[in-house]
Amino acid sequence: MEFSDTYIESFIQPRNDLLIEMETFARDNHVPIMQLPAIDVLNQILRIQKPSNILEIGTAIGYSAIRMALTLPKSNIVTIERDADRVVLARDFIARSEVANQITVIEGDALEVDVDSKSTFDAVFIDAAKGQYMRFFEKYSPLVPSGGVLYIDNMYMHGLSDLNLKDVPRRKRTMIRNLRNFADWIMNHDEYDCTFFPVGDGLLICLKR
Ligand code: SAH
Ligand code: MG
Repeated sequence: MEFSDTYIESFIQPRNDLLIEMETFARDNHVPIMQLPAIDVLNQILRIQKPSNILEIGTAIGYSAIRMALTLPKSNIVTIERDADRVVLARDFIARSEVANQITVIEGDALEVDVDSKSTFDAVFIDAAKGQYMRFFEKYSPLVPSGGVLYIDNMYMHGLSDLNLKDVPRRKRTMIRNLRNFADWIMNHDEYDCTFFPVGDGLLICLKR
């Protein structure tokens, strides 16, 4: 039996004015922020996990970073974004939020920047270029201690992940192939217990043993 998205969405809690402004900005400017039901699932699991240090790959305008910081007032978030215009927007929105002291935005390509290699992150949220998930994972999973969790968004890729490759638009085939290879690899990885949460655009949650 199918569940009803509308029914679930009727329980989404109201957000403050700044968040509503950001949601509107994202919609009007085609910024792909995380969908509300998926953010709620992510935040609820973060409440249970209680990570103190979170690394986010893919800040966009700072929406998910602010939502996570509001959910976990004692946690610090480092978030990486390569698009210079979005970094400016994110820093501005974050400065106007109540959680600016919890969030550090790093401008640069997550595959190139140096995050202090002595830092550890008990939660890593990967939400950037979908064809690069394996590489993000390889670079950042060593910073996650045993018991830490990696949260990975857009595993469903708006339904493309599920199609026969010949039905995927040609320019997206490499990305989808990479995403599927990543899913097959991580699901069978001895060091992680991963579960696919069918919420939003598909959230994969991997616990490091
Ligand atoms: N997490 C945000 C949405 C992120 S959208 C939210 O839910 O509010 C994905 C972002 O990842 C885009 O802004 C894109 O510019 C950024 N991105 C893609 N590849 C990247 C990379 N290699 N390094 C840093 N940022 C990247
Ligand atoms: Mg996403």
